[in-house]
Amino acid sequence: MIDEQAALERARGLLARAHAVTVLTGAGISTESGIPDFRGPQGVWTRNPGAEKTATLQHYLADPDVRRQAWRNRLDSPAWSAEPNAAHRALVKLERDRVLVALVTQNIDELHQRGGSDPALVVELHGTMWWARCWDCGDRQPMAGVLERVRGGEDDPACLLCGGILKSATISFGQDLDPAVLARAERAARSSDLLLTLGTSLGVYPAAALVPLAKRSGARVVIANAQETPYDELADVVLRGSLGQVVPDLLTGMPT
Ligand code: NAD
Ligand code: ZN
Repeated sequence: MIDEQAALERARGLLARAHAVTVLTGAGISTESGIPDFRGPQGVWTRNPGAEKTATLQHYLADPDVRRQAWRNRLDSPAWSAEPNAAHRALVKLERDRVLVALVTQNIDELHQRGGSDPALVVELHGTMWWARCWDCGDRQPMAGVLERVRGGEDDPACLLCGGILKSATISFGQDLDPAVLARAERAARSSDLLLTLGTSLGVYPAAALVPLAKRSGARVVIANAQETPYDELADVVLRGSLGQVVPDLLTGMPT
């Protein structure tokens, strides 16, 4: 407890001296909004390793049964009714202080934008679940309309323009990230003097590679995550508490 308080003070000091901050968030910042992560103790894949198939591009494109399962899972996602939590909202402080270079997120839930973050500063490395995209012609449609069709009985809805396979506008396993989006995240990591990672296991690449990239470019690194990460050794400060508490404590307790 005393150690955690001392770590919090050190992290506040680093933030207070920073001129350019990049934040990297993962599923752990949204668990307190009711959206399970993948690899935490209650994670979707920790509890049901088979679910990983629906998020793998090759299986999704090749197998209609996997797509039907994916659409059924999507209908029930807790993310549709989730609200931003105290951690999402607290991050807006970095914008008010004019030090935020980019809020890079692996999340697909848009809770940063809904929590008050400027959409122009949010870099969605893994896309968004609120849109659907045709794999063949690239047409984008709001996800709500596609889910209406699924509710109406289409168990594997096809693109209305070309008949191609529809998929959520997210990055599946086996799918490349948008190069322009990744380049923007890398530029932010390289040009910042502090990288703050929140609620990510830092096990998914290339997102996790932003940490050593920032460090090599001279940034201080603060990692806040309930479980260990492969980059804890490299970090200047590691915080272990739950983010709904840690992020407001960290940012609102900052000297101004
Ligand atoms: P992850 O599941 O690999 O890791 C999440 C980490 O957050 C875990 O180490 C866990 O211990 C920690 N954590 C969970 N709740 C926490 C809390 N309240 N306070 C502090 N720490 C907490 O997630 P990842 O690193 O983001 O990678 C998983 C991939 O899954 C990403 O690519 C992402 O696109 C996707 N995903 C997104 C969402 C979402 O949009 N909300 C949800 C699940 C998965
Ligand atoms: Zn199409």
